[in-house]
Parts: sequence; C-alpha cells; structure tokens
Amino acid sequence: MNVEINPNWHQRAEQAHLPTRAFIGGAYVDAVSGETFDCVYPGNGRIIAKVAACGEADVDAAVISARKAFESGAWSRVAPAERKKVLLRFSELLLQNREELGLLETLNVGKPIANSTNGDIPSAANCIAWYAEAIDKVYGEVAVTADDVTTIVVREPVGIVAAVVPWNYPLSMAAWKLGPALATGNSVILKPAEQSPFTALRIAQLAIDAGLPAGVLNVVPGLGHAAGKALGLHMDVDCVGFTGSTEVGRYFMQYSGQSNIKRIGLELGGKSPQVVLADCDDLDGAARSVAAGIFANSGQVCNAGSRLIVEDKIKDKFLEKVLLQAAALTPADPLDPSTKLGSIVTEEQLSRVMRYIEDGVASGAKIVAGGNRVRQDSGGFFVEPTIFDGVSNQMKIAREEIFGPVLATISVRDFDEAMTVANDTIYGLAAGIWTNDVKKAHRAAKAIKAGVVWVNCFDRGLMSVPFGGFKQSGFGRDKSIHAMEKYTDLKAMWFAH
Ligand code: NAP
Ligand code: MG
Repeated sequence: MNVEINPNWHQRAEQAHLPTRAFIGGAYVDAVSGETFDCVYPGNGRIIAKVAACGEADVDAAVISARKAFESGAWSRVAPAERKKVLLRFSELLLQNREELGLLETLNVGKPIANSTNGDIPSAANCIAWYAEAIDKVYGEVAVTADDVTTIVVREPVGIVAAVVPWNYPLSMAAWKLGPALATGNSVILKPAEQSPFTALRIAQLAIDAGLPAGVLNVVPGLGHAAGKALGLHMDVDCVGFTGSTEVGRYFMQYSGQSNIKRIGLELGGKSPQVVLADCDDLDGAARSVAAGIFANSGQVCNAGSRLIVEDKIKDKFLEKVLLQAAALTPADPLDPSTKLGSIVTEEQLSRVMRYIEDGVASGAKIVAGGNRVRQDSGGFFVEPTIFDGVSNQMKIAREEIFGPVLATISVRDFDEAMTVANDTIYGLAAGIWTNDVKKAHRAAKAIKAGVVWVNCFDRGLMSVPFGGFKQSGFGRDKSIHAMEKYTDLKAMWFAH
C-alpha cells in the first residue's frame, strides 16, 4: 500500500473537511458551553480549526449515553460473532478512508503524509481487526474444585471505559484502547489530545456506519484539565485506559482515589537505552536502527531509544555511522509524499526540545549533529536530528524524556557498566541491545528492567505481542490478548450441587 505518486496533498488539505464537534450518543454536537479551542497545523503554524472544548457537562452527557448503551445490551450482550462483524467492518472503513484519515492526522500533528497514510492508519485498522478476530477465541475457565460444586470463571466487560490518549500517534494509540475495550463489550468515551482531535472525531461516524450502536463510542475533544479530569473523576466511569506523560498518569491515580477507585491502565513515558556492545558484527545495521529508533516521528515516540549506550572501544567508529544516518534525514514539508521527517507537534513542544538542547550544551555535552530549529520561514515547527556525544547519565538530557529528535551518547567500559547505566533511570518502557554474544544477549534481556527488550533489533511490534512499561513507565499492557484483561472483570460463579 503506497500513497499515490504525486497527489496534490496541499490542495486536498485546503479542501479537507475538518471535524470539529464532539460526538455523543451517535451525533455530532457542540460543547454545552459553546466554547472551542484552536487547532494549529504545525507544518506552517496557522490555525486551521476551532474544535469543541468539552468540559464536565459534555463528559456527563457522554457518560449517560455510554451507560445507557451499555445497560441496553445492544453491544455488551450481543453474540461475540456479531461484535466481530461490526468491528471488522469498522476496520475496513478505516482502510477505505485511509487517505482522508492520514491527511487529518498530518494536519493535526505534522507527521509525514506517507507515514500517516501508509503507517498510522493501516496500523490502527489492523489493531481493530485483530481484536475483532480475537473476540470469540478467549475462553472462560472451569476452576478445579471439590465434587460438590462447579465453579465457572468468566470475564465480563467493566462497563464504561474512558480512553485518554496523546498526540504522537493519535489514531493508533486510540485503536490500542478501542480494540480490546469494544471487543469485550464495553462502551467507550475517547478523549483525544487537544493537539490531535480530527481522526478521533471522524472515526466515531465510521464506527456508526459499520453498525456500532449509538452511545457505544463517544468522543469528547477538549483540554486535559477539563475533559480529561472530568473523566478521571467521574463516578460512573469504570476504567481509564491512559497513554501519555508520567506527570498526567499521576493525576489519573489521584482522580481514581478521589472518586470511585476506577481501574487505571497507564502507558507512560520512557528514556529507553539502545546498548551497542563491541562484539556486534553488524554495526551498520545497528547504526540504521539506532538512528531510526530516535529520529522516527521526530523522536516523539514513547519508546524512543534516546540514550545510546556504547562500549568506548567502538564508540567513535559507531557514532560515525550513526552520524551518516542522521545526515540523510532533513526535516521537510509534511505534505510532500517523499518527506521522511516532519515537524514537531507544537511551538511549545519545539521550545521544550530546544531548551533541552541548550541544557545539554550547558552541562558539557557536545553536539556532533544538528541542534538547530530549521525551516522557520515555513512558519512551522521543525528541528534537525540532533546527536550529543560525551553525555553522562546524570545529565538532564539523559534523565528526562525530551520527546524530540535528540540522541544522548554515553560511553561505557564494558557490559556490566552498560547494564548499570541502562537501568539507571526512573523509566522502564523499552530497551535495545546489539551483540553477537548469545550469552550476553540473554543476560542483558534478563538484566534490563523494561517491558520490552529488543535484541539485535529495535521498535519491532506486532499485535500479538504485549506493549507497556515497568517502573514509572506505567502498568497494564496494550496490544495482545493481555490488553483485554484491563477492560474486563473476572467473575467466579459457584454452583453447589
Ligand atoms: P500528556 O500531556 O500526558 O497528555 C495525554 C492526555 O492526557 C491528553 O489527552 C491530555 O489532554 C490529557 N491530560 C493532560 N492533562 C490532564 C489532566 N490534568 N487531567 C486529565 N487529563 C489530562 O501527554 P502528551 O503530551 O499528549 O504525549 C506525550 C507523552 O505521552 C510522552 O510522555 C510519551 O512518552 C507518552 N506516550 C506514551 C506511550 C506509551 O505507550 N507508553 C505512547 C505514546 C506517548 P490535553 O492534550 O488537552 O493536554
Ligand atoms: Mg499534553
């Protein structure tokens, strides 16, 4: 699947219909307050839409509609095979509309149009289809008991799920929640990030077109401290599936404690190490992977491999190869199908990235590639792929999540120091290790405290494999059958004979 050779994406962008109203109870509606917030195209810095700013009243309406749909059984109690048909049609509609949805994604977040149309949208569709296929393959249990009783253990949908998602992969991250939550029969209220509401709003209608009953999927765009907080504190929301920063993850824990002890799943930030050992015989492959691991999506990736931990005897040779990879990546027009590196999502995020770069320099690390804002005449928010050498793991650029295309290179003496440095972080989302020594590969895979460890690869993913973090990268897993656990409750039913 590829984008057309030379479609006029700029013209299509001018003509695109941008969805701006909330979606509650099967219909598009304005916010009760009538308020809106601005959406900016980060490729040129211009305001392109004013979107309904939902607050408590809108969240209340969405929860009422979601609860009504749930209790009606129109989705929660229909045969799994029926739910499967609807979700497969929904997935198909995402694919059929992938150019429109890809364009909406690029207009919201400035990622290259080729990536959004060929990557983000098909991957979201694949996720929905995977859970559709899984619906009637997950069985309950008959527990082992004495003979005078039969005990059946089943999974029931929790009820109302709030999916609160970030802007870096807006539709994919939403799909990671919608797939397992809808497949298991829940009603969902989706709160997209304020930077990226378009695809969430558009797919709400596609879900209805696919046959999802009204009220099962509601979308409340709005600001985090209004719409997000109202969902977190709502007494009739049973579960929150959250992806975002560790800081906001903490709030959701508090909201839960302050309200109804709703269940929370947290997929948070990271500062993932990419460890390269001197025995690795494919340094070219490793360099390609290290560069892709930090520069893809302009580094705005939760599992971005932002710390390169390399044995000092190969450091210079290896860095040289990574530099060549970085040099081939120039930020360019997100609407040009040949662009590989787009913009940063907002001016605010761009300033944050630039402040980290300044901080790296001030703390004594050396910039060996990039470091500058570019394409300023476009009005957009672009920054070069940036590489620091001479970084100590105590520096801020090695400790804090930058969420930008900035790689921190840390030299280590040997394997043991590499493991110590890799684990010296509050995060534990993912890690990569490059080595030809099978024993070191296994030792590293066990030693690294992270939810995902890639050996001689990085950023591989499949729907069949769980994804999520250790430590302050959160808890609970997206993807795979395990994600269905988050959105269901175990019930044990005892039948005495
Ligand atoms: P964020 O600021 O934490 O926002 C995530 C979501 O929470 C947004 O919908 C946001 O709404 C909402 N929110 C913000 N403040 C809130 C509050 N006080 N109460 C309730 N909701 C609130 O994250 P982001 O800036 O969108 O995304 C970047 C972060 O996401 C990074 O830290 C990254 O590592 C993480 N991430 C993790 C994964 C993973 O799977 N582990 C994947 C992708 C991203 P607003 O947009 O209106 O603020
Ligand atoms: Mg935010």
